[in-house]
Amino acid sequence: MRARRQAGQDSATELLATKGLRVTRQRLRVLEALADERDDATAQQIHSRLRSGDQRVGLATVYRTLALLSELGVVDALAHSPGELCYRLCGAGHHHHLFCSSCHRVVELIDCDIDAWLEEVATDHGFVATDHQLEVTGVCAACRDATTAPASR
Ligand SMILES: [Zn+2]
Ligand SMILES: [Zn+2]
Ligand SMILES: [Zn+2]
Repeated sequence: MRARRQAGQDSATELLATKGLRVTRQRLRVLEALADERDDATAQQIHSRLRSGDQRVGLATVYRTLALLSELGVVDALAHSPGELCYRLCGAGHHHHLFCSSCHRVVELIDCDIDAWLEEVATDHGFVATDHQLEVTGVCAACRDATTAPASR
């Protein structure tokens, strides 16, 4: 089984190679920046991170690179924030996400157990299910604690 989070230059290089992508300095920088994210990041956020790390990569290049990488399935593009795509470097294979609407925490759900249910409901409608996506929006434990904590501080 592949490591859950790709990190470091070697694995970024390897990841690009397995997708048949030419390894360029910009692609490596973008992938490495994304690998450092616990949750997800927008193109803007990746761009400002690269700039603060003294990497000279243009915003347009970051947008283009992320779009290409998500098209090829290297990174996930998450549409849970209105008007803005968030990107995440996840493990390989079919999975889903839990998303905290309050703090952007993203949890990767490796085990998908909905095929049996899906097959049943699809069959009821004469469908053969070939693929599915599922994004779950909610509130993470830390944010729930913050809202239920006593206000006397
Ligand atoms: Zn993912
Ligand atoms: Zn949260
Ligand atoms: Zn699934």
